Amino acid sequence: MTPEVLILGGGVGGTIAANLIAKKTAGGRAHGTVIDSTGIHVYQPGFLYLAVGQENPGALQRAEAQLLRPDVTLVVERAIRVDPDAKKVWLGSGRSLRYDQLLIATGSRTVMEEIPGGAGAHTFYSMVGAERLYQALGAFERGTIVIGVAGIPYKCPPAPVEFAFLLDDYLRSRGIRGQSEIKLLSPLNRAFTIEATSKLVQPILAERGIELTGFFNVESVDPIERTVTSIEGETVAYDLLVLVPPHRGQKVIDDSGLGDERGWVPVDKNTLKHKVHDSVWAIGDATNIPISKSGSVAHYEASIVAAEIAAAAKGEPAPTHVYDGKVMCFLETGKGQATTIRFDYDHPPTSPTPARRWHWAKALFNKTYWHTVPQGRVP
Ligand SMILES: Cc1cc2nc3c(=O)[nH]c(=O)nc-3n(C[C@H](O)[C@H](O)[C@H](O)COP(=O)(O)OP(=O)(O)OC[C@H]3O[C@@H](n4cnc5c(N)ncnc54)[C@H](O)[C@@H]3O)c2cc1C
Repeated sequence: MTPEVLILGGGVGGTIAANLIAKKTAGGRAHGTVIDSTGIHVYQPGFLYLAVGQENPGALQRAEAQLLRPDVTLVVERAIRVDPDAKKVWLGSGRSLRYDQLLIATGSRTVMEEIPGGAGAHTFYSMVGAERLYQALGAFERGTIVIGVAGIPYKCPPAPVEFAFLLDDYLRSRGIRGQSEIKLLSPLNRAFTIEATSKLVQPILAERGIELTGFFNVESVDPIERTVTSIEGETVAYDLLVLVPPHRGQKVIDDSGLGDERGWVPVDKNTLKHKVHDSVWAIGDATNIPISKSGSVAHYEASIVAAEIAAAAKGEPAPTHVYDGKVMCFLETGKGQATTIRFDYDHPPTSPTPARRWHWAKALFNKTYWHTVPQGRVP
């Protein structure tokens, strides 16, 4: 019987892995099926630009079927439970699919409801949220915009800093920066998780008049008084509040007993194999690996896990090449400039001085994404 590979999630990691596995097992040596709850592939980094009117929703989504090789089957349904002993995945419709190898690439879910009073806060962490934020910014004339983070880990650690810089540009372009304040609340003693890059961007935040407050882990919001309070006991007033919501693994992980207390899937940080269950792998935001939850990580991991799963499906020895913790991200610093962040398990993060060329490199990456990344090509 042809070995069956099930891939849960048709986001960045799942799509790349599915295409690469199909390529490596062409000729009927395995068959791959992607199960995705929406069938729509969303390019989330674009939400930042959508929120400040530099992008439109249509450019940030494509039908998943268009991105998969023709020999990969797409099932548009929500996976609700995995039974790793029976090697089956149960779908919302009640039917089940069997697998020989299972790749979990379900990403993360945001849970604003975990923040008391947070329901009305703005966010650029979803398409709908970014569109609503753009509308609210259009109506904003003066006052204080507060950007807060409601818990670590969250995907794309530099995103709140990038948003602060893009917001600064946006308010300047509308001629209302002089009558507005931007306050960035960070859960750490620096701008965001990566120390070297925080040191680089903090003076630029100060130069642009963006006030940074450290050790502010958002605990609750009072939408009547328009204040946000931290676990540390500090309260800050706002006119417009933008929050990065708390993140969790998907419900299917909890309901299948495959994750930790926040629903992150425990995997070996090199092989990406589940720590307990055979023939189960996970990549991207879904894992518990203490590394940035980012598209770049999902991308690098997908090519490693595809080689491992293809070898397992064909009954060949496991490849020796493993995931080395490689991360490469861009960080917009406003005024048409950006920097990059690169590191791996053995090398600490480095970031060059912000320059126009990194901003254009990010813009090029965003524009060429649909023709390069899902297919597993490194642009
Ligand atoms: C504002 C913002 C800016 C960002 N900027 C960057 C950036 O500049 N660089 C970068 O590298 N990363 C960035 N990211 C992060 C990046 O988008 C994510 O880390 C990346 O998408 C994770 O890939 P993934 O494959 O793990 O999950 P996702 O791409 O989120 O895909 C998960 C898929 O699983 C599906 N799914 C979930 N549950 C189920 C289920 N039960 N059954 C079936 N299907 C299911 C979903 O429908 C989805 O298609 C940004 C994110 C945001 C929000």
